Amino acid sequence: MPSPIRPQTPSTVKSYCRFTPGRGLASVDGTATLGLTGVEFELDDRKPRRIWRYDRLKAEEPIRPNTIDVLLSSGEEPGASLFVQGIPFAEGLRARAPHLSQRARQQHRRRVLISILAVLAALIAAGAVLSWSPAKWVANALPFSWRERLGDAARGSMTVGYKECVDPAGLAALATLTERLSKGAPTGTPFAVHVYDWSLMNAFAVPGDEIVLTKGLLDKAQSPDEVAGVLAHEMGHGIELHPEASIIRNVGLGAALEIMVGGTTGGSLANVGLMLAQLGYSRSAEREADHHALELLKAAGIAPKGLGDFFTRIMKMENEEGSGGSGMPSWLRTHPLPAERARLVKQAAAYPATPALDAQSWENLKSVCNKTRDPKDSETKS
Ligand SMILES: [Zn+2]
Repeated sequence: MPSPIRPQTPSTVKSYCRFTPGRGLASVDGTATLGLTGVEFELDDRKPRRIWRYDRLKAEEPIRPNTIDVLLSSGEEPGASLFVQGIPFAEGLRARAPHLSQRARQQHRRRVLISILAVLAALIAAGAVLSWSPAKWVANALPFSWRERLGDAARGSMTVGYKECVDPAGLAALATLTERLSKGAPTGTPFAVHVYDWSLMNAFAVPGDEIVLTKGLLDKAQSPDEVAGVLAHEMGHGIELHPEASIIRNVGLGAALEIMVGGTTGGSLANVGLMLAQLGYSRSAEREADHHALELLKAAGIAPKGLGDFFTRIMKMENEEGSGGSGMPSWLRTHPLPAERARLVKQAAAYPATPALDAQSWENLKSVCNKTRDPKDSETKS
């Protein structure tokens, strides 16, 4: 909420400032003054004078009585920052934009969150200097329990209205397959796979090493090797922290942190779910996931053919059926490259393999939705 701006007379004192138009871009020196409606600054590059309105200003650090310099950003120029030096400027700014002062940030949790943000912002800046992917780098720095909380929130928001499939024999078959595939994962810890009674064909990785699989996908699969291929691919996304990075990139680090620190913001939660279900990943992310999928399948002694087969077959079905009906195209859109995937699988050297599941377990897995549970109550229904 913007705090009311106290009327003040403009100050004519000029302070040294340094403007950075965006991350990785060159900074320009100049002078800043405290105008009637905002911080006015003139840069040495002779571009016209700019004004950043007081009520849209954000300060990297809250301005205290003894603050000697400030680092500002503004909603008017996202990504840009303005560093201004001098106690008189900081003092004057604090009077004109009280929301930037430390006193305005009384809530304890906010303060904790903001210090975390400040640290992470510094880490992002460090990451950007070394040209890493900041979102992914931040994702890597998150404790597992935070990623898990983000995952639970994402899974909860996107599976609203669908029941979780909990037939015991089906879950046992799923656990067998998941453990077999997880063995080759770098952490060695098994992924948590949840099946939902949802006719739309879908499979996606959520943060915290979780995967959501739909009944629609199990129905379309013709062999356990195909399901293993899809799971291995989604695990690949999970290993690379693609879901975490995608959420941070799209809802912003602040909203993601709020979810992880324990608060929830309804709006961002809805976005989190939508995003993972609809947006999909870049082509390079898809290649990374495929690369991991092949390694996981090999470590598990499961033939990679199912991975290529499934995506190719679904693509063919889509072409034949058109885009109406079962909603498959949306899932394919979020997992592109079926032809490239099939080629990759063909190129993989052969190794001894056994079916991902025996015939009985495969039947059990396909029937996992014979028993479902409403996420709201723990009672199971047959
Ligand atoms: Zn994918």
